[in-house]
Amino acid sequence: AGSERRVHVVLFPFMAQGHVLPFRCLAGLVRRARPGASVTVVVAAPGAADSLRASLAADGLHGVRVHALPLDDHPAADTCHRDQLIALFVASESLRPAFRRFVAGLRAADPGAGVHVMADMFLGWTLGVARDAGASHSVVVTCGAYGSALYFSLWSSVPLVPDTASSPDDDGAFTVPRFPGVTLRRSQLTDHLAAADGTDACSTFINKQVAALRSTDALLVNTAESLEPEGLAMLRRFLGSVPVYPIGPLLRAAAPSTVKNNNAGSPILAWLDKQLPGSVLYVSFGSTYTISAPQMMELAAGLEKSAHRFVWVIRPPAGFDDVDGESFRPEWLPEGFRERVEAGGQGLVVRCWAPQVEILAHAATGAFLTHCGWNSVQESLAHGVPLLGWPLSAEQFYNAKMLAEEMGVCVEVARGMRAALSRDKFAAAVETVLGDTVERAEMRRKAAKMKGVISAARESGGDGSSVKVMERLFADMHGTRRVADK
Ligand code: UDP
Repeated sequence: AGSERRVHVVLFPFMAQGHVLPFRCLAGLVRRARPGASVTVVVAAPGAADSLRASLAADGLHGVRVHALPLDDHPAADTCHRDQLIALFVASESLRPAFRRFVAGLRAADPGAGVHVMADMFLGWTLGVARDAGASHSVVVTCGAYGSALYFSLWSSVPLVPDTASSPDDDGAFTVPRFPGVTLRRSQLTDHLAAADGTDACSTFINKQVAALRSTDALLVNTAESLEPEGLAMLRRFLGSVPVYPIGPLLRAAAPSTVKNNNAGSPILAWLDKQLPGSVLYVSFGSTYTISAPQMMELAAGLEKSAHRFVWVIRPPAGFDDVDGESFRPEWLPEGFRERVEAGGQGLVVRCWAPQVEILAHAATGAFLTHCGWNSVQESLAHGVPLLGWPLSAEQFYNAKMLAEEMGVCVEVARGMRAALSRDKFAAAVETVLGDTVERAEMRRKAAKMKGVISAARESGGDGSSVKVMERLFADMHGTRRVADK
């Protein structure tokens, strides 16, 4: 009596920034919900293990182990030409034997304990390994509920609009299968999705993931019940009987040290210190996606035209390699742009990477132009910062739609990597979110409300909080406080 069943929790993220970050938070959440559990994060690239160990230590998660699996076969280039990400996902299946050995080893070392595998939504093959080893399994959805419900639902309904592929310029509206209340446009589908017929590499891959979503023991979604009630209802409708646990938002807090050192360590934060509250637009398209060179040119012109202050994090546009992580090429930005805006104090042009959470937490930041990646979205809302949306791929289109139409915290300025951005319209949108406008006041009020919702979900007290939901998962799957395991 009084004993908790021992549980080994195995976290298995897909190796990309936007996936590893929420998994780091997940490790901390598991620790808080089930202090007695042992936690191991599995990484697919031995080279990434050390830096992950260092990050976990920096998060204060010293007891969390990291186990590296050898990635034998490197991504096959012919699986899905235009989408390297999918090729990487497909290639991850080569890890199956090594992962099987790892889970079997855990079981053998501690036969009385339970093993629970929490795997990334694109690593559906781990379900078979868990089942064979007698381990429980959950799928971790690193994006939001509304976005993932539409994304997976659309992929399992292809071909979507029979003639979209032949008329790519037709931006006709259509109703999402299974969700008759939701209308989308052709421009809210990636080319892959618009062209998919169910037999192509992407459909085959994603349908396998959907099968895993529908037969896993639990779905852990990086959102909160109070943040996305409608999205969660849609996801539950789509999945049938699999229980859904909204264990998010999985967010890092802004580093307190930056406040203590007076932002001496970061020129960006030091620059923000000198700006008026709520006056700066932060521009970043995340860790993976990028816009085209002509779009970058027009965006630069629009920013300059708006006359509002900005911090723009630039990675090379589509088709350009990142040679040194530092230089700019003349095709990317109008001549003299950087020098003009930086010397005139209008903005900062940053290459590659910025301390995003700290920027969003800064009082000077008033709006965020984002590709609507789910981490970026939650980080922005967590600080009450309204958004300008420019979704580029995957479920980002549906995140933007929800933010604009349901939450009222976002103005969508463009869509996709081929959109013809107009500098005038863009400058007007910046004025809407940073100028003295009625819309701005309304968006800020709604974003502040979301900030409250997110902060409540992150506190350990309330019933809907991340920790409570995670405790419930362990109680449902592994018993609590009274379950004997022998
Ligand atoms: N990020 C950052 N600095 C940057 C760009 C990105 O810290 O310059 C972080 C950002 O805070 C977020 C993650 O990287 O946590 C990006 O995830 P998101 O889901 O927004 O987009 P993805 O990169 O997966 O497309």
